[in-house]
Amino acid sequence: MKQTKRSSAENKNGKQQADNNKQASNSNGSERHESLLEKFFIDQLKDIYYAEQQLVKALPEMQKACTTEELEDAFGNHLKQTERHVKRLERVFQAIGKKAEGKKCEAMDGLIKEARSIISETKEGSMTRDAALIIAAQKVEHYEIATYGGLVQLAITMNLDRPAEILDKTLQEEEETDALLTEIAEANINIDADQENNYSWSEKEETTMEYEGSANSF
Ligand code: FE
Ligand code: FE
Repeated sequence: MKQTKRSSAENKNGKQQADNNKQASNSNGSERHESLLEKFFIDQLKDIYYAEQQLVKALPEMQKACTTEELEDAFGNHLKQTERHVKRLERVFQAIGKKAEGKKCEAMDGLIKEARSIISETKEGSMTRDAALIIAAQKVEHYEIATYGGLVQLAITMNLDRPAEILDKTLQEEEETDALLTEIAEANINIDADQENNYSWSEKEETTMEYEGSANSF
């Protein structure tokens, strides 16, 4: 771990320095300076605020493309939760006295792009499409879990009790969604998708897959 490079004494000095800085700015009557960690926390909040808003737009497309009702319902329910995630983030911004604003998140844009290409590359009504959509959605959930997990821990460290509580609520919903998607895939979809012929993928993809298959004697 990189943290071990600094001795705890150095860390203590750093903390002392930070406390002095806070005191100095407070005694001057000026606004307290944000620590680098606070800045990073806010930056990550903006990242996930943007990401959740993009998901509110993408989930209906994924929902519409589903083959099974089960997955359609799961995406529909998660869309409602995602709308609440946006609102919760606004409450977190409010709790720390910051304006709610998003910051372009290339990672989430990429994951959503991947989900869209699955829709265009798989055959409508196929189980292969659902199996692939589940994996795409789980990649999104894992990104959210990593972000919210980190944000909760940072909030706890900085004694931001209310924001930590709010963020943890969302973290739990993302984890439940991830587990539900695994359940849905394992119950039927993956097995049914395995029974489908090669035509579940578009012509272009099929050619690529065949070539890779023969090259690796798959
Ligand atoms: Fe979310
Ligand atoms: Fe989510």
